Amino acid sequence: MAGIYIHVPFCFTRCGYCDFYKTTRLNQMKPYFESLKEEIRQRSSHFCEKIDTVYLGGGTPSLLSVELLSELYDWLLKHFDFSDNVEWTIEVNPDDITPAFLHSLLYTGFNRISIGIQSFKDEDLRQMGRRHNAAQAVSAVELAQKSGFRNISIDLIYGLPWSNEVAFADNLKTMQELNVQHLSAYHLTFESGTPFYALLKKGFYKEISDESSLMQYQMLRKAALDAGFEHYEVSNFCMPGFKSRHNSSYWKGEPYIGLGPGSHSFYNNTRSWNKGNLGLYNAKNYEAIHGQESLTPIDRFNERIMLGLRTAEGVNLTQIKLNFPDYFDNLIRQVQIRIQQKHLVIEDGFLRCTADGWFLSDAIIEELFLVN
Ligand code: SF4
Repeated sequence: MAGIYIHVPFCFTRCGYCDFYKTTRLNQMKPYFESLKEEIRQRSSHFCEKIDTVYLGGGTPSLLSVELLSELYDWLLKHFDFSDNVEWTIEVNPDDITPAFLHSLLYTGFNRISIGIQSFKDEDLRQMGRRHNAAQAVSAVELAQKSGFRNISIDLIYGLPWSNEVAFADNLKTMQELNVQHLSAYHLTFESGTPFYALLKKGFYKEISDESSLMQYQMLRKAALDAGFEHYEVSNFCMPGFKSRHNSSYWKGEPYIGLGPGSHSFYNNTRSWNKGNLGLYNAKNYEAIHGQESLTPIDRFNERIMLGLRTAEGVNLTQIKLNFPDYFDNLIRQVQIRIQQKHLVIEDGFLRCTADGWFLSDAIIEELFLVN
């Protein structure tokens, strides 16, 4: 089984923290769409896996009209081989949502919607540069529910420098009341090249303390577990049976094809990508924006460690021993200190982070990485 990721790089405005590839040149949408169809036509002939999940991300896929989304859906069905039960996810911005738009999405075939809420506080949304307000965020979820979506995910961002634990607790309370099936919650990071990064360097913003980060992470986890969510990946929570199948396939190392500028693919132990260059993409000059690398055994080992330790399932040690016999003993030696510190545990043949360890997973993963 395999997945398709389609990057829709258009945004109405730019959010201050965002480092995804995007453009506000909305007049480029039509040539982009024509090029996307051509890329699908060309690349589908070399991709023989059965498709199990499709994910439209961005950017802002909800800026595409319902006519284009329907055309894209049909075009994908025509060019790829699909399994019987496909997860079709589209990311939407709360202010693009109307009952008519939602009905059209369902009618087209999208069965999962991921709403970029980020916060239920007007002040947070204003500072982040989001287009919607808190009332629109709540109403977006309610409209999706009323329209018939039964698999709704929302995104939240925490660790905001101007905010505090009290405000975050309020956000979590609203999240709990909305009865969604999936929650992705990310700590704000100041990515190089973003307006927020420049403001950090100028001293306008200051990163929150490690103690506050940990406290908010623990609040998040408790609120999600209290509401009945499973914590299945370091930043992702779901009601039973509602894991993101698309993202889970990334974490399991299954193949996927990325389409559109700024997208990534993984197939036959090779990573490839389309550079973020809309001009070349719209000119259908795919060669010029294509990059790829074959993964060495060390790359593949590191990837299994990184992806495994981010998930509740953990790293399958039997598979590590089988596929990477030269690195196995060293791994077991390396993890002993973290096991004593109760940050890692080995259970039923899987190495996984404990609840405390998950917060430290980036550092733990780095310790276990091998160098090429
Ligand atoms: S966060 Fe989303 S909406 Fe905001 S600029 Fe980035 S891609 Fe666009």
